[in-house]
Amino acid sequence: MVSVRIGNGYDIHRLVPERPLILGGVRIEHHLGLLGHSDADVLTHAVMDALLGALSLGDIGHMFPPTDPRWRGADSLELLDQVYQRVRGAGWQVGNIDAVVIAERPKLKPHISAICQSLATRLDLNPNQVSVKATTNEGLGPEGREEGISAQAVVLLVQ
Ligand code: MG
Repeated sequence: MVSVRIGNGYDIHRLVPERPLILGGVRIEHHLGLLGHSDADVLTHAVMDALLGALSLGDIGHMFPPTDPRWRGADSLELLDQVYQRVRGAGWQVGNIDAVVIAERPKLKPHISAICQSLATRLDLNPNQVSVKATTNEGLGPEGREEGISAQAVVLLVQ
């Protein structure tokens, strides 16, 4: 019998001027970017939290405390590498990922396949094992008012 574990992750970051917008490791041209201690890649953060959650290993705030200067401006894909090493070290591999990014603007559709490829490469997956969807929030809430971008992710780990 195949053992499986499921994890879910959520994150939100504030949109501000003079910051890059990076989603799943892909830099996207926009007049606003995400504010955070690291590069604030909200999608990668949600994926990392889902991976850690699947193994009951806490969350990324615990693994990479925002008070630690080592993670200032960190490339979130490099943090993802560390999380993935823990997953592999515990004897698991990723079955699939399904994620959604909630952003009013910019339109993310043109970037989705690059984002899937970026995350897949990092996690030794085929792009078809990584699903990233984008939706607006219909003008509602902080995402709808373009105050921030949030992301949710579900991952399945298999042994
Ligand atoms: Mg975050």
